[in-house]
Amino acid sequence: MDTVVNRLVRYAKVYSESDYYGQSGTPSAQREFDMARLVVEELHALGIDNAFVDDQCYVYGWLPATPGYEHLPAIGLIAHMDTSPDMTGKDVKPQILHYEGGDIVLNRELNIVMEAGQFPELANYVGQDLVCTDGTTLLGADDKAGIAIILQAVEELLAQQTPHGKICLGFTPDEEIGRGASNFDVAGFGADFAYTVDGGEITDYEYETFNAAMAEVIVHGFSIHPGSAKDKMKNALLMAMEFNALLPALETPGHTEGYEGFFHLQEMEGKVEQARMVYIIRDHSMERFQQRKAAFEKAVAEMNRRYGTGTVEAKVEDQYYNMYERLKDHPEILALAEAAMRAGGIDSPTHSPIRGGTDGSVLTFKGLLCPNLPTGGHNAHGRFEYVPVQSLEIGVKTIKALVGAELVEEIMIGKESTHHV
Ligand SMILES: [Zn+2]
Repeated sequence: MDTVVNRLVRYAKVYSESDYYGQSGTPSAQREFDMARLVVEELHALGIDNAFVDDQCYVYGWLPATPGYEHLPAIGLIAHMDTSPDMTGKDVKPQILHYEGGDIVLNRELNIVMEAGQFPELANYVGQDLVCTDGTTLLGADDKAGIAIILQAVEELLAQQTPHGKICLGFTPDEEIGRGASNFDVAGFGADFAYTVDGGEITDYEYETFNAAMAEVIVHGFSIHPGSAKDKMKNALLMAMEFNALLPALETPGHTEGYEGFFHLQEMEGKVEQARMVYIIRDHSMERFQQRKAAFEKAVAEMNRRYGTGTVEAKVEDQYYNMYERLKDHPEILALAEAAMRAGGIDSPTHSPIRGGTDGSVLTFKGLLCPNLPTGGHNAHGRFEYVPVQSLEIGVKTIKALVGAELVEEIMIGKESTHHV
């Protein structure tokens, strides 16, 4: 039997960083196939012969239901194989440190220290073992901890002959650059619902994300020599600023938190003749999201009233929706997650709204309901990334309970458990 820690250390050493500026489509970097091939190899070793990687670097595999449990829903488990390009993931040298409190020296030679004062949640892990970096790379527990937890749970389920319904396994490339779900084969995957295992602190799971739209605004100006421009010039740059001023000034990322939505101007370029702006529009509430898009269109209409039809053009496209919009009609999917976390050893699971989206929000948008479960990782995308060993182990217990027939029957089918201790 392998261990979840050994798996994480093994996976973390594989260089599979995605690339914002890489090839289009998936994977953005060919090296992501190295991780995909390793996952397929390990699934085969567990006896999951149907596992494969497709030409877009998605790995799929299926465990058929234990005979007699075919009536249970097919549950999907999903993790991503790439690491964030925000910090290098090359030559990761994971180390396991016993934490006695205080600062953690990650690298004596380079004097890289994780200070307890800067990361107060470290106090929760005194007396535990932490998987850390050597301070020169990220760890990639985001999301290789998710892969390690899923594969370890599968190995233990099979070894312990725990009955289960059909289990669908999916591992994606390019999550960190926002393309993780774009080529995911929802129909071929065949799950009734799924969970991404890609969260943070082991006590917290997530099922509320933003509703998201992206808007590209083109402002058409008219350029003429400034010396003879009177009553003729239409300066696209000035009109672009005027357009932005029609949006609520305090509803931006820098002025909002919790459940407050925003308009975010993230790109702006141009000349007198033409200007272009890119906005993202976000809100947890579907009603307020629609109102925000309407307000945006109203600003476009007002500019065209002032300067003539066609002066400002906007293309607004929805990107994903708050998965809770769909999940609120399926509380049993959340109840199963919470019950599994309790079975894993978390007495009172919490949930917090994500000010962003996940692969799960895109998958939910594509019809596959998909909340997000924790891996136990902290400080993702940087040199201070770490994950406590005990959290990884809780993660494995959680996943085993989540797909095990006992809990699924109790919560999804409403049947009293026949198992007596
Ligand atoms: Zn992640």
